[in-house]
Amino acid sequence: MQLSLQGKTYVIMGVANKRSIAWGIARALHAAGARLIFTYAGERFENEVKKLVATLEDDTALVLPCDVTKDEEIASCFAQIKEKVGVIHGVAHCIAFANKEHLEGEYMNVDREGFLLAHNISAYSLTAVAKAAKELMTEGGSIVTLTYLGGERVVQNYNVMGVAKASLEASVKYLANDLGKYGIRVNAISAGPIRTLSAKGVGDFNSILKEIEERAPLRRTTTQEEVGDTALFLFSDLSRGVTGEIIHVDSGYHILAR
Ligand code: NAD
Repeated sequence: MQLSLQGKTYVIMGVANKRSIAWGIARALHAAGARLIFTYAGERFENEVKKLVATLEDDTALVLPCDVTKDEEIASCFAQIKEKVGVIHGVAHCIAFANKEHLEGEYMNVDREGFLLAHNISAYSLTAVAKAAKELMTEGGSIVTLTYLGGERVVQNYNVMGVAKASLEASVKYLANDLGKYGIRVNAISAGPIRTLSAKGVGDFNSILKEIEERAPLRRTTTQEEVGDTALFLFSDLSRGVTGEIIHVDSGYHILAR
């Protein structure tokens, strides 16, 4: 069986710039022959995303706005995709957000508003997107989201985002159960730390990277390409028996005790 995605269409949500993990996934899917649709949140990302997409030299690529805090924007985004493309075969959900002040110090200092914001964007959005995408995934397919070890264990400074990732990982399992009967699989990649725009918000991120280089079984940090290739596997038929799974792409760091 080949890893070709020729004739398949995927929605890539969460490219902010060339360092975004979503962009690593997009490049892997593009190289496998997939047609891609990109969504971005807010006008400030529009130009950057359009510039990056132009480098793919693919006339069939679409770029659409989709702020996941707005139900009407999710509905209009998937309605436009339905009108322009019809059927899709998968979604890469690479979206998260928490206030910077809640990504340092003690977890318990998070306030109600900050807690709900992180959960709204980083966890609930997967469910909202999966529901909208299901209507277009009439041939079955695969939904992939991104999580982090901080959702399973306490990682210093990750705080409310860790609690939101725990919710996201539970959502992966419940959604996998709901959507399996439609031939739709739902999985998460638990990526090791990668220097991106979002990662900059996490307090003392450099020492997290250093720890991976020194202690992870593979003795190196995770790359965008490694996550992209695992996503390609999860979007392809090679993973047809895999759903509700959290796959760690983190140089093996998650197996260690401290
Ligand atoms: P990134 O900043 O490049 O991507 C985050 C994206 O979320 C951005 O494109 C941003 O526009 C989008 N976003 C934020 N609020 C949104 C909203 N309301 N509606 C729609 N989109 C919104 O950073 P990244 O590291 O590539 O993050 C992608 C995913 O990977 C996130 O879920 C993140 O938690 C996860 N992750 C990152 C790391 C890491 O170390 N970088 C590790 C594990 C998991």
